[in-house]
Amino acid sequence: MNEVAPAYVKLVLAVGQHDKDYVDAFYGPAEWKSEAETRQRPLEAIASDAEALISRLERLPQPSDEMGQLRRSYLTRQLQALSARVAMLRGKKLSFDEESRALYDAVAPVNTEEHFRGVREELDRALPGAGGAASLVERYEAWRKDFTIPKGKVDGVFQAAIAECRDRTMRHMSLPPGERFTVEYVTGKSWSGYNWYQGSYRSLIQVNTDLPITMDRAIDLACHEGYPGHHVYNALLEKNLVRERDWVEYSVYPLFSPQSLIAEGSANFGIEMAFPGRERVEYEKASLYPLARLDPSRAEEFDRVREIVGRLAYAGNEAARRYLNGEIDAASAAKWLAEYALYPRDRAAQRVRFFDQYRSYVINYNLGKDLVRRYVESRGGTPDNPPKRWEEFEKLLSSPRLPSQLM
Ligand SMILES: [Zn+2]
Repeated sequence: MNEVAPAYVKLVLAVGQHDKDYVDAFYGPAEWKSEAETRQRPLEAIASDAEALISRLERLPQPSDEMGQLRRSYLTRQLQALSARVAMLRGKKLSFDEESRALYDAVAPVNTEEHFRGVREELDRALPGAGGAASLVERYEAWRKDFTIPKGKVDGVFQAAIAECRDRTMRHMSLPPGERFTVEYVTGKSWSGYNWYQGSYRSLIQVNTDLPITMDRAIDLACHEGYPGHHVYNALLEKNLVRERDWVEYSVYPLFSPQSLIAEGSANFGIEMAFPGRERVEYEKASLYPLARLDPSRAEEFDRVREIVGRLAYAGNEAARRYLNGEIDAASAAKWLAEYALYPRDRAAQRVRFFDQYRSYVINYNLGKDLVRRYVESRGGTPDNPPKRWEEFEKLLSSPRLPSQLM
C-alpha cells in the first residue's frame, strides 16, 4: 500500500489539471504538483492507471489489523470515485443517485412534498403575519431581517464565535500544536463559507459576504469550518495519519470523493457536539447578540424557527435531484427551494449555482450529518455521555472510514 498511496496522490493531482474544483487540499511533496502541471496527463491514461491501481489493491493480502484493512478499502473506494469523476469529465451521464453512490459512497433518501408540508405548517404558526397576502418564504425573509448582523459587526461576531468553538473543542480533544486559521471575506461565490486546508495545521477560511449574514451563521460557520469541523478534521488527519503513520494518501483531498461525506457530515454534526441542547441559544443570547447589537430577548424566537427550518434540510436534495436529472429547469429548482426548503429568493439562486458547480455533493451535508450522528451514537456516544461522544467523534476524525462503513 505504501507504493499505491503515492501513485493515488499523483492521479488525484493529474485529475486536478482537468477539473479546477477537484483538488481541495494538497500538502504533500511540491514536486508532485509541478509534475502534474507539466505532464498534463490525458483523462484516458488517468482512467486506465486508476483501474490498474484498484486491481493491484485487490491482489494484496488482507492486512491483519483494522487500521490496515480500513486503509485498503478507503484507497480502493477513493480510486473508484476518481474513476467515476474521470468518466463524468469524459462525458458520461449519471443520474443524481448513481452519481452520489459513485462519488460519495451513499444515496440520499427520497422525501415527498407531503413530508415537508408538515414542517411548513409548523413554521407558518411560528412566524408572524399568518393569513396575510405574503407567502411563507416572504414572511420568513422579512422576519429574518431583524436578525441580520450589521456589516461592521460581522468580523467581531465571527471571531468571538470561533474562540468559543475552539475553547469548547479543546475541553474534549487535544489539538496539534500550532494549529490555527485565518478568516478572509470574499464575494462572488456559490457557497457561503469554505475551508482551504493548507497543511502544517493551518487553514484559510473564506466567508462569502454576497448576501446578508444572519445570527445563526456565526456558530454554524465557526463550528463547521473551524472547531470541531473541517479545520480540526484536516489537522487530525495530518497529525495521526500523514505524519505519524506516513500515509501520504491523506495529504491530498479530492473534493468529489467519499471523504467529503465524512468531512461535511462531521462538520455539521460538530455544531451539536460543541453546543449540545440549549447551550447554543444560551451562548448566542448572552454573548453574540450583544456583540452584534441585536435584541437578545428575541434569541429564543430565532432559535425555534432555525430548528424548524433545519428540518427542511433534505428538501434541498430533492430540488437538486430533480434539477440534475433534467426533470426541472433552474427557475423551477429555485422555486422548489423557496417553497420547501425556505430559501429566500437570493439564496435560492445562489444555491442553484451551487448545484451547477458541485452537483450531488449536496447530500454530504444532511445525509452526512445524520450518518455521522448515527455512527457516534451507535457506539455509545449518546448525548448523555459527553466523554464517550467526544471520544468516538475524535476516533472517526482520525481514521480512514468510508460512508458505507458508517451504516
Ligand atoms: Zn463544509
